[in-house]
Amino acid sequence: MKHDIKPTRAWAEEMDQRDGLARFREEFYLKKGSIYLDGNSLGLLSRRAENSLLEMLSSWRERGIDGWTDGKHPWFHLSEQLGAQLAPLVGATPKEVIATGSTTVNLHQLLATFYQPEGKRIKIVADALTFPSDIYAMKSHVKLHGLELAEGLIQVESKDGQVVEEEALIEAMTDEVAIIVLPSVLYRSGQILNMERLTKAAHERGILIGFDLCHSIGAIPHHLSEWGVDFAFWCNYKYVNAGPGSVGGLYVNQRHHGQFPGLAGWFGSAKDVQFDMDHTLQPASHAGAFQIGTPHVLSLAPLLGSLEIFHEAGIDELRKKSLLLTRYLMNLVDTQLADMDFSFGNPLEDTRRGGHICLIHKEAVRICKALKARGVIPDYRAPNVIRLAPMALYTSYIEVWEAVERLKAIMENKEYEGYKKERGVVA
Ligand SMILES: *Cc1c(COP(=O)(O)O)cnc(C)c1O
Repeated sequence: MKHDIKPTRAWAEEMDQRDGLARFREEFYLKKGSIYLDGNSLGLLSRRAENSLLEMLSSWRERGIDGWTDGKHPWFHLSEQLGAQLAPLVGATPKEVIATGSTTVNLHQLLATFYQPEGKRIKIVADALTFPSDIYAMKSHVKLHGLELAEGLIQVESKDGQVVEEEALIEAMTDEVAIIVLPSVLYRSGQILNMERLTKAAHERGILIGFDLCHSIGAIPHHLSEWGVDFAFWCNYKYVNAGPGSVGGLYVNQRHHGQFPGLAGWFGSAKDVQFDMDHTLQPASHAGAFQIGTPHVLSLAPLLGSLEIFHEAGIDELRKKSLLLTRYLMNLVDTQLADMDFSFGNPLEDTRRGGHICLIHKEAVRICKALKARGVIPDYRAPNVIRLAPMALYTSYIEVWEAVERLKAIMENKEYEGYKKERGVVA
């Protein structure tokens, strides 16, 4: 089916009519009158995620300590079970994925395990636009190895401040580089990096490569195993809708299984010997080895319900709809908001664009406040970025139309002038 996108309200109505994913919208707690376009920061609660959390509470209430081994989802195996259920979203085998930790903690674990500076191969390569927490973690490990930051970490610059050129990343892959850590999708501009190409280039040069999937998991399909990516890590509270502070995930390619975890803890143990309480760790023979302590069971629970939805909807279908939603949104910006000083920070091509669009405007901070007051929930990133993320699972086409209508009114009436030009503490 070819979609000739028309920047009209009628097109949105027609698309909603024949949207095969529309039924999932009813599963989410949406606020009436409000258009939520911030699912790339915090996904909304679904009834299924709520139920799986409530079920977990009742297993605690009813079973006490026996919840570890009994019940529908015994807690002792929950991280492995959810790892297997996350695996299709990242294109990995079940044993390559574990639900554990958080983005930053998992990156610390993976660097502690795989960053082994030796001889002249001592550098970590990252990009200059990546999420700060990732850089903080990388700097920690450079310092822990007793290296100067300037000799241990290279951040590849962006020419325009929005996207990072893959050529520049490949150029930085010298024989002094031990490991590369990059985002799959850049959190501001939504640029997708070609993970397959970069992995191939890194491996040809004897370099390990890992990706931060925070802005791609649940938004775009991945084939990490096939591409041979060494490791990856992510959170599940953005596109995966598992709730604030929900447990994250990590992937380690099978060829590295058996590698001793850099940060060891008893939940990385092979399950059958964990309770032998021996002082010599016998790590699990799969990605589970990279767990540290007792799993945060209540923060894992919503993932059970949420992943059910992803498996029913299918990531390929979700991606198709997401691309149509963002393409439609860009068309509307071009036609409805022409001459209002907006520009796109995101790549325009489907193959290079993640799940959100990045609108640039010098009044971004005040426009975001005005949008919120009009019931459109955007995401502001200093100094001039408005991120808008229509979610394939719960945003309708007509909401995208309506959001742009409200934005247009804000611009025409200069409503943003009624707000202070400063960002909130969380933004
Ligand atoms: C959201 C996000 C994080 C957050 O890290 P946490 O440890 O989950 O707080 C890290 N990296 C990227 C790219 C993100 O988008």
